[in-house]
Amino acid sequence: MRIAAAVFLYASVLSAGTAAGQTRDTLDIYVIDVEGGEATLFVSPSGESMLVDTGWPGFDGRDADRIAAAAEEAGISQIDHLIVTHFHADHMGGALQLADRLPVVNYLDHGATVDEGERQRAAFAEYVTLRSGGAHRTVAPGDQVPIDGLDVRIIAADGDVLATALPGAGRPNPHCDGFAFHGEDILSRYGDAEDQRSVSAFIGFGQFRSVIMGDLTWNKEQPLMCPDNKVGTVDLYLVSHHGSDTSGSDALVQALAPRAAVMNNGPRKGGGPETFERLAQVEGLEDLWQNHYAVGVGDANRRESFIANLQDFAASDRDDEVHLGAAYWTHIAARRDGSFTVTNSRNGFSRRYPPRGGR
Ligand SMILES: [Zn+2]
Ligand SMILES: [Zn+2]
Repeated sequence: MRIAAAVFLYASVLSAGTAAGQTRDTLDIYVIDVEGGEATLFVSPSGESMLVDTGWPGFDGRDADRIAAAAEEAGISQIDHLIVTHFHADHMGGALQLADRLPVVNYLDHGATVDEGERQRAAFAEYVTLRSGGAHRTVAPGDQVPIDGLDVRIIAADGDVLATALPGAGRPNPHCDGFAFHGEDILSRYGDAEDQRSVSAFIGFGQFRSVIMGDLTWNKEQPLMCPDNKVGTVDLYLVSHHGSDTSGSDALVQALAPRAAVMNNGPRKGGGPETFERLAQVEGLEDLWQNHYAVGVGDANRRESFIANLQDFAASDRDDEVHLGAAYWTHIAARRDGSFTVTNSRNGFSRRYPPRGGR
C-alpha cells in the first residue's frame, strides 16, 4: 500500500507540472506567414522567447495578429528578445502593432538605418521611439543572446561577419571555388544597403543547429563562409531573403548542408527559380518546406503537403482578401538529440528527421 501511495503522489506532481505548462522539452519554432515578409518565433524549453522580425505594418495589424496567435499557441505572454534583422518594412514594419499586443523586453538590431527615403526614415524614427521603451542593444558578430537552454550567437550584423569560427566550425569550404560576386546593378536594384546589414544568428539547442539570416545578401555570404566555413553545418536552414535569387549561394547552402529547409516566401515575393535549383542540388537536403506556393516557378514548387499557404491573394481583385485570408505557419519542434519534426499547420502534415550521427 505504501508503494502505491508513493507512485500516486509522484504521478500527481508530474501532472501538476504539465498542467501548469512548465514542462517543455522542445525548442519550438514558428515560421509565421506574413505575406512575403518575415517573422519567426523561437520558444526555448525554459519558456523564454525570441522573435526574429515582425512582418509588415498596416492591414489593421494583420501580421502582429498572426505573431500573437503563434505566441498564444506556444503559451508565451511576452517577447523576451526581438531581433529586427534590418529596417525594411517587411521585417521591422509590424513592430509597433506587435508591441500593442505583447510586451517586448529586449530589442536587438544593427543600430541605425542606412535607407535615405523619407518614408523609410520616418518608419525608422517610430521604431527608435518604440525600442527606447525597452532595453535596446546594437549587436555585433560574436555576440550571444542570453536565452536559458539555447546557444544563440550573432554571425553577421551591420555588414560585418564573424571574425573567427563558431566552436567546432572553421573547416575549409570547398564550395567557395569560383564564387561569383553579384554586380552593383543587382545590388542597388534590390535595396542591398539594408539587406547586407541584416543581423544573422546561429541557434543551437543540444545537438540541433539552425541559422536565420534575414535578407543577408549573396555577396556577404562569401566572407562569412569563405575560405573557411565559420558557421559549420545545420539541421534546419531558414532560407535567407524569402528565397530570393540574390541570396543563397552554393558557398552558403552546400556548406551548411541542412537536412530540411523552410522558405518564408510570398506568392510573388522571393521563391526564386535559382534558389529552388540550388537547394535541389544540396546533398542530404531531404525536404524544402514553403510558407507559400510560389507563382513564378510552376512545377519547381514542392507538392502541396509541404506548402503552408496555397492561395495567391496578390492575383485577386479583392483587396480585403489580402487582409482577412486565413494564414498558416510552419512549425518545427526540435529536440536536444538533434532530431526535429516539421509540421504544416494547414493540413497537419508532418515529417520527423532523426538525430544526425557523426557530426
Ligand atoms: Zn525582406
Ligand atoms: Zn530587406
